[in-house]
Amino acid sequence: MAFPTLRRINLTTWIFLGMALGVLAGMAWGESILPLADPLADLFLRLLKMVIVPLIITSVISGVAGIGDARGLGRMGAKTLAYYVATSFLAILTGQLLVNLIEPGTGADLGLQKSPESVKAADESLWGILLRMIPVNPIESMASGDILPIIFFSVLFGVFLIQLEPKRREPLQNLFEAAFEVMMRLTRFVIAFAPLGIFGLIARIVATTGFEPFKSLGVYFLTVLLGLIIHAGITLPLLVRLLARISPVRYARAMSPALLTAFSTSSSSATLPLTMESAENRAGISNRTTSFVMPLGATINMDGTALYECVAVIFIAQAYGIDLNMTQQALVAVTALLASIGAAGIPMAGLVMMSIVLRAVGLPLEGIGLILAVDRLLDMCRTTVNVWSDACGAAIIARSEGESGIMQPREEFLESKTA
Ligand code: ASP
Repeated sequence: MAFPTLRRINLTTWIFLGMALGVLAGMAWGESILPLADPLADLFLRLLKMVIVPLIITSVISGVAGIGDARGLGRMGAKTLAYYVATSFLAILTGQLLVNLIEPGTGADLGLQKSPESVKAADESLWGILLRMIPVNPIESMASGDILPIIFFSVLFGVFLIQLEPKRREPLQNLFEAAFEVMMRLTRFVIAFAPLGIFGLIARIVATTGFEPFKSLGVYFLTVLLGLIIHAGITLPLLVRLLARISPVRYARAMSPALLTAFSTSSSSATLPLTMESAENRAGISNRTTSFVMPLGATINMDGTALYECVAVIFIAQAYGIDLNMTQQALVAVTALLASIGAAGIPMAGLVMMSIVLRAVGLPLEGIGLILAVDRLLDMCRTTVNVWSDACGAAIIARSEGESGIMQPREEFLESKTA
């Protein structure tokens, strides 16, 4: 009886299957798999993107209103930001240590791999990043999917919603809560397409990416990868174990649909619907916490990107034979943090933001051309770490807020079949 057996396979297994088949199909058929892979990948990405804006608005407003008072919100906000900055710095330190120890760029025979013209320089200052958070027109930000201003507006809307008298507040709060529930159901429906979408995404990547660049950039690639593995496999799990007091392995398993989607899409924003759904329904974290920590995290908490910025810039300096002194190394660390905060949760955003770090230490922007060739795979890896860090933050903050249901997911989802 094949059908009931198939129904018993859980979502993560289906996604793994999609990935494995994607790798095989991409290798076996090369670019001739694209007529099948492209529509599947695009369909899934469009469905995810369709969900993001209404999901953020309804979840942030209902989440903030659910916190109940401005003091609670301030406390949660302070904890969240402290977590973001602390873990990003830990990631940066890990990267900095490794790249200085391994020195992948010293004596590397690189030559410009590709004209850097295809990479636009980001023109961002801290002030610019902060200012961009405030929407001149919230509707315009919603229409263009500009996430940070949407969050800013929704948080304020929630804060002032709480202050209405109950007669006025309750209908509106109920409306946003109901709309949020609808969005979560819709998200679950979209997630049912994840295995097929991920098959398409992975097949496309394998079919169109060559392995040639890894010959000259292999050590650099491995240095970033090692850093990401240490951060995601040791540092963050330790924090989860100590501060959230749950098993990081079980938690990672609960979050696996989101982590695998992050890897396949290279986009924290596109992954956000899965991140929230997995945290709430598979890991049992409250809506109050996820709706505050996740959307903000997907946009500004990027540990993987921060680590990568730091390693890449020091690698470029080494390749050019430029010695960075202590002050410059510190400057790299600080600007790498800013670049990771400013990077949008979309593919290759980190590469674009690197110009900030390069400029800060006076390195030529052309340096970006050196690392372009292996960026795609690194983007997949760092995005997974970005999303994992958001997830760990949600668990830690949920525990600090006294939540007791963490890793006691709703039964129906533990058993979950395809959604
Ligand atoms: N792709 C990454 C993300 O969405 C950002 C980056 O390029 O580093 O999280």
